[in-house]
Amino acid sequence: MSLDFFTLMTVMAANLFMISAALPLIMGRDVSRAARHVQASLLLQAVGWVAVMVSASVWDQALSTLFIACQAAAQWMLYRALEEWLGPRPLRRVLMALVVAAPLGYTLGFDVYAWRVGWANGLLTLILLIVARATLFPVRQAEGRWRALLLGCLLTSAFFTLSRGLLGAFTGDYPSFRTPHPVNLAAAVAVNISLVLGTVAVLVAWRYEAEQQLRLQAMTDGLTGLLNHRGYTAQGENLLAQAWRHRLPLTAMMLDVDHFKQINDRHGHHAGDRALQLFARLLAETCRNGDLIARLGGEEFGVLLMHNAAAAGVAFDRRLRSRLKDASAAELGFVLEYSAGMASLQPGESSLAALMARADAALYEAKATGRGRLTAAG
Ligand code: GH3
Ligand code: MG
Ligand code: MG
Repeated sequence: MSLDFFTLMTVMAANLFMISAALPLIMGRDVSRAARHVQASLLLQAVGWVAVMVSASVWDQALSTLFIACQAAAQWMLYRALEEWLGPRPLRRVLMALVVAAPLGYTLGFDVYAWRVGWANGLLTLILLIVARATLFPVRQAEGRWRALLLGCLLTSAFFTLSRGLLGAFTGDYPSFRTPHPVNLAAAVAVNISLVLGTVAVLVAWRYEAEQQLRLQAMTDGLTGLLNHRGYTAQGENLLAQAWRHRLPLTAMMLDVDHFKQINDRHGHHAGDRALQLFARLLAETCRNGDLIARLGGEEFGVLLMHNAAAAGVAFDRRLRSRLKDASAAELGFVLEYSAGMASLQPGESSLAALMARADAALYEAKATGRGRLTAAG
């Protein structure tokens, strides 16, 4: 079997263009930033391969420099997609410098073949290795299989890129980009396979991202951006289990805006909505890292204070009440008040529902005894 390098490259470029065109159609218009970075990455690669093929006939230096620039920029875009999916990634500045230096050094040293091939492929190898490293150790929760697949593709590309660089820089076996050297032919086949598998990997990553977003949406309240009842229950049960495991105190509060129906009646539903948003913002500002806050429904909010006994609940209530008084008068034009019930975790109490039921009973008592106050469960 004899493989023709130019044919392989043509198939590669055609595939890249088709995938670049198909991805926006498959993904739709309203895609995440990560997905857009991936689309840009594929398009850059496609443009790069066409440029290098045309460079065989005209504008050799300009087009082959464009090829190196496109390859480097495509990896930069992939790295940025990984940042979106996995959280901050290491070696960002080094990568940026390499992405600029690769085409620059290539074109400045264009007249010396060994230099330009060694330089460009050497730096592209480093770039690929940094992006490969970026698939590891996610900061955000991420599924592992697509990362392993992408890692394999990137390492394969890095291996062949390095081989090309070494051949070009130190031997006479690779006098041109299109040399039908076995390594070059193997590289062309491997790059085609990597393209297909890499595309599968990013599609899976993108699907996983969409799933996560749906899950998050299902747990979030649209008006205030706080957790909703479902989210509060899910995360609250985790906190409760932690409190039990480490024998930590935990205090739950239920807060309900007073006479909220009248606020809607007097100032309009829109003002009511703004009041709820203000209340939510102040709750977020008043609680500490690790505490849980949520809008449980209507004008009712839930708070779980981690590592805290009843005294902390009293202090929290005092801070929130004074902030709310000032902020509501200033921002809404009327004073917002609330009633609250509080319950601290008791020996033997193992369900969030039981703890919240006691806080709710205390809230009911606060309402019954005049509103605008905090009552602790007996
Ligand atoms: P209380 O002091 O006893 O708590 O009286 P209240 O009027 O606050 O309580 P009630 O349960 O009688 O009324 C709650 C009102 O909250 C009724 C409902 O129209 C309003 N409400 C619920 N959700 C929203 C919302 O998302 N936006 C607005 N503007 N109002 C809401
Ligand atoms: Mg109310
Ligand atoms: Mg209510």
